[in-house]
Amino acid sequence: MPMRPRRTLYPPDWEAIATRIKAAADWRCEQCGHVHEPETGYTLTVHHIDGEPGNNADWNLVALCQRCHLGLHGRKRMIRQLMFAFAKPAWLKRRERQRANSP
Ligand SMILES: [Zn+2]
Ligand SMILES: [Zn+2]
Repeated sequence: MPMRPRRTLYPPDWEAIATRIKAAADWRCEQCGHVHEPETGYTLTVHHIDGEPGNNADWNLVALCQRCHLGLHGRKRMIRQLMFAFAKPAWLKRRERQRANSP
């Protein structure tokens, strides 16, 4: 993993990146599988797995509905990591594979 300067700002083309990730997920939440449906509160959002908005590699981005996304952020980082250590969500396993295969 090469060191890169810590950037906290979203890139100017963030909208395009987010749309690409959501389209790749078939406009469904990768955690609960619900379709993108803003009327019922299931607005699809894109989460940065490492919490770094400047890191927009495919393996770092996951499409989650607002509910799952909020649930993820609502937990303390340590609790989240502990939880993931016991039961990793499928999307996280996929991204870890993707990351291992990326140059
Ligand atoms: Zn969801
Ligand atoms: Zn997030």
